[in-house]
Amino acid sequence: MPLLPTLTRDLDTLIDEARLRARVAELGAKITRDYQGKPLVLVSVLKGSFVFLADLARTIDLPLAIDFLGLSSYGDDTESSGVVRITSDLSKPVEGKHVVVVEDIIDTGLTMQFLLANLATRGPASVRICSLLHKPARTQVNVPLDYVGFTIEDRFVVGYGLDHAERYRNVPFIAVVRG
Ligand code: 5GP
Repeated sequence: MPLLPTLTRDLDTLIDEARLRARVAELGAKITRDYQGKPLVLVSVLKGSFVFLADLARTIDLPLAIDFLGLSSYGDDTESSGVVRITSDLSKPVEGKHVVVVEDIIDTGLTMQFLLANLATRGPASVRICSLLHKPARTQVNVPLDYVGFTIEDRFVVGYGLDHAERYRNVPFIAVVRG
């Protein structure tokens, strides 16, 4: 019997739990190596990155602070408009800190472009991006992607924190809704 049989009956698995676990551990090990014992602030972009953040944080062997940033894009459910608004700001300044932004997916890149420009005004020591997923076919602006979990085709995906109209965030794998 699959996990969550009712919720997942309309879904086709794209990346299963074992692949997610293995790749997240690799990303965490790389971040651990790259920062060489320096303290890090993980900035999680709400809401889609909350599951990834929870798993990733537990694979990073560094002194970590964790903060959250709420962003809302004016657009419809599945399309980013590039006009982004901060709905909930960081709880502490990041001035002088090494920051890794934890994102669920980079699609057009417009949201991350806005966020990088915004964070730059706060005087961090450095900013890098860690995105679980990347859809290169949809790129409108190039942002430097330092850590990427999986490159995927141009399909709308759900699960592992990602939603469709708030549904499916609690599905433990990445999936496509069967249409
Ligand atoms: P971008 O500004 O890069 O176009 O879009 C980034 C945001 O759009 C992501 O943080 C996510 O909220 C949403 N998004 C883009 N593609 C997908 C997708 O395939 N599935 C879901 N659930 N959200 C997506």
